[in-house]
Amino acid sequence: MAGGVTTDVKTYSMLINGEFVASKSGKTFPVYDPSTEEVIAQAPEANADDVNRAVAAAKAAFEEGPWATSTAQERGRVLFRLAEKVRQNLTMLAELECRNSGKPIIEAEFDITDVATCFEYYGGLATKVVGYVNPVPDNAMSLSLKEPMGVAGQIIPWNYPLMMAAWKLAPALAAGCTCVLKPAEQTPLTALELAKWLEDVGLPKGVVNVITGFGESCGSPLVKHPDVNKIAFTGSAAVGKIIVKEAADTVKRVTLELGGKSPNIFFADADFEAAIDGALFGVFINQGEVCSAGSRILVQKSIYSKFVEAMAEKAKKIKIGPPLERGTKMGALVSKEQYDRVCSYLEIGKKEGKIAAGGGRAGNFAKGYYVQPTIFYNVDNNARIAREEIFGPVAAVIPFEDEKDAMKIANDTPYGLAAAVWTRDIFKAMRAVKTLRAGIVWVNHMQPTYVEAPWGGYKQSGFGRELGPWGMEEYLETKQVYINLNESPIGWY
Ligand code: ADP
Ligand code: MG
Repeated sequence: MAGGVTTDVKTYSMLINGEFVASKSGKTFPVYDPSTEEVIAQAPEANADDVNRAVAAAKAAFEEGPWATSTAQERGRVLFRLAEKVRQNLTMLAELECRNSGKPIIEAEFDITDVATCFEYYGGLATKVVGYVNPVPDNAMSLSLKEPMGVAGQIIPWNYPLMMAAWKLAPALAAGCTCVLKPAEQTPLTALELAKWLEDVGLPKGVVNVITGFGESCGSPLVKHPDVNKIAFTGSAAVGKIIVKEAADTVKRVTLELGGKSPNIFFADADFEAAIDGALFGVFINQGEVCSAGSRILVQKSIYSKFVEAMAEKAKKIKIGPPLERGTKMGALVSKEQYDRVCSYLEIGKKEGKIAAGGGRAGNFAKGYYVQPTIFYNVDNNARIAREEIFGPVAAVIPFEDEKDAMKIANDTPYGLAAAVWTRDIFKAMRAVKTLRAGIVWVNHMQPTYVEAPWGGYKQSGFGRELGPWGMEEYLETKQVYINLNESPIGWY
């Protein structure tokens, strides 16, 4: 692993039962700045012992403490106060996120604002959970009540560290659940900062526990723990499949948001300039480390050469640089592991397609995991770079003949997280919306999404939905209550 030791490396503690603690083993692991390869912090390396402590705290908080009897209004207010803390500390959080993940500071600022918005949204939604009166035929009243699922284990990735934490924590808390959150080992710092405010905003001890550690030694024991009622996971498809299997023994509720290989489809009648912009934004935002990246760019044959040329010309001008510099539009990849992985796909791509831009390490930086925005063209949809999620700034541009051809190629993937279609023909656009098998379809745009709207995948991109009322539903059980309105004996025997 790269990284010289720098002075002033802070050792973080993790949050278990309202206390900031080291791991039971005393072990820590280094956390890096991927743009300098320097160690910027140490985090506790939690294992099964720590998972047990955290789950016990979350279980006790769910069953006994003041949280168990809290009202929806109180839970909502906690979330509003947390949002306020995030807004007050936006600069600090954005800088820390930027340093730890390698993403450009301007993107990190957007992310942290979204974090606050997410807490606010669920702060408001906490009081909008409603039951139902079921129209049963008997002389009875039948009600459906919504109740919190219990202890939620939440395992998140490194591409949007604090945002993913908010997407998980906010609906769970609004619903009345308690949480054990495990950030990705690459990027635990902003979640550990957020943890410091939880008591201040009025969360009783044990309601949220934040433990830091690795997938197999910390994530897996959380998934298997019998006292965890639900696992919410965002990450790779490979790990998602393991989680489903490991959660089966205790019949846990599971929601998964996994990878994608999303098609961004350009018809010849689309606005050309907007299309080029949209193709680049769709795949290169956040260094391409986006589960919904438009990494398969499908372009109609009649505009194909012109399109590839224009894309390449613009891609070469993307400003790659130190993440903290405000002019930077593309920073460093998150880790050495991810850098090596993406570089290996660059080599695979050179055999599978032709190169229009990029193809290697970016810039003259002495250190840091910088990769050029890379565009491969004349790629077949069966090529590995068109089928496998790369999670880096690598685009595969695939030609298509007509609408039917485009839809066939677009849906020919094991994934189904996102898709986008660009055309000025409203009929064609709406047919595409219906045909594309994906959890979100954009028309003449790609990537924007909001906390009010559902997010999640079809097919192997996962199941369950986050955000909006759908996101809270995943933390609620439904209880039926049957009330007899007839006092006389049943008269059966
Ligand atoms: P990547 O391949 O980019 O590292 P992962 O899917 O491995 O993405 O990681 C996403 C999250 O899942 C991280 O928090 C990681 O620690 C966790 N994780 C990895 N492996 C496992 C596992 N076997 N069980 C539970 N969590 C895991
Ligand atoms: Mg991993």
